[in-house]
Amino acid sequence: MHERIYLSPPHLGEREEQLVLEAFRTNWIAPLGPHVDAFEQELCAYTGAAHGVALSSGTAALHLALEALGIGAGDEVWVSSLTFAASVFPVRYVGAVPVFVDADASSWNMDPALLVEALQDAARRNALPRAVVLVHLYGQCADVRPIADACAAHSVLLIEDAAEALGATYDGRAAGTFGDVGFYSFNGNKIITTSGGGMLVTPHAHVAQRVRALATQAREPVPHYEHRHVGYNYRLSNVLAGIGRGQLEQLDARVAARRAVFDRYRVSIGALPGIALMPEATYGRSGMRSTRWLTTLTIDAARFGADFETVRLALEAQQIEARPVWKPMHQQPVFAGCRVIGGHVSDALFATGLCLPSGSSLTVAQQDRVIDIVRSCAGVGIPQTRSAAA
Ligand SMILES: *Cc1c(COP(=O)(O)O)cnc(C)c1O
Repeated sequence: MHERIYLSPPHLGEREEQLVLEAFRTNWIAPLGPHVDAFEQELCAYTGAAHGVALSSGTAALHLALEALGIGAGDEVWVSSLTFAASVFPVRYVGAVPVFVDADASSWNMDPALLVEALQDAARRNALPRAVVLVHLYGQCADVRPIADACAAHSVLLIEDAAEALGATYDGRAAGTFGDVGFYSFNGNKIITTSGGGMLVTPHAHVAQRVRALATQAREPVPHYEHRHVGYNYRLSNVLAGIGRGQLEQLDARVAARRAVFDRYRVSIGALPGIALMPEATYGRSGMRSTRWLTTLTIDAARFGADFETVRLALEAQQIEARPVWKPMHQQPVFAGCRVIGGHVSDALFATGLCLPSGSSLTVAQQDRVIDIVRSCAGVGIPQTRSAAA
């Protein structure tokens, strides 16, 4: 039996161990310290963000973004529907009301035309949302410019969920640096990892300051323990920031490796009948770069001769992890009753989409195993029971 191939496993280098040892040797085993400060500065230097705050997760970053921007009970927040639930859960933490916005088929990200029209309509009804959470999915930037312009025109705050898009650019600028707040995730499956962690970035000094305070139990700057606000314990440990610094040095190499994985899939299976890889968008004045965090594709079962679930199960039988595309938030039981603007595009992507193993450490031999199995599924047929249920 072959060893298991994971969808997107951690990929560690040698520097990380050195940096973690340094934290041990200097006894900085705390949720602050020199690695945390340096990690924040280095990530800001890489992305061009003005301020960065290292936090315990991307989810914590979104939670504090909402708190720091003053979004609370009853406020509406519009969120990309095709995403991971962590793009929405913090909206609920603060008592705000999520509304979902569909994707467009050319980018799989929030449809700018749909958003612009819906904002105009909401403005006429005097029912604008307080904020938009724009997700950059699978390593590809959404079409930020028209979305940011529309938000600005209506005084709606823009938060970028760049959890999956560190290393991606739009108009030569880093994902996450266009809005009032952006954030990245360093969860174990992301392009770089600290095992768990996140970073909030913002052009606003006062937002960064407020987030920093909220993340450390909202202590007032006096010698005794004085609190005027409810705080959280959300800072990143200095040990984990050491891992992050080592990982960040490798980010461009990791992006190149993931793109190479994508290119091999494109050449070997991209032209099979019924298979369509997630398109790389061409918007933005000077174009954009997707990191291809995950290689994702849709399978037209009638043309390919097997549906995506058949392919997934064939891979699983050979110890290879593949996953369906994110189930849209407007289809999630936990968000039943929430409003959705559009929805058919993300429904169709979920109904046919599959994510293939895409780690930066995936070897050519491992990838060939995946490719051979996908090819062997063509024409095997569609199980009647499942296609009826789907
Ligand atoms: C991973 C992820 C998050 C959450 O980040 P964590 O660090 O795991 O909390 C949020 N949004 C998206 C789109 C993600 O993929």
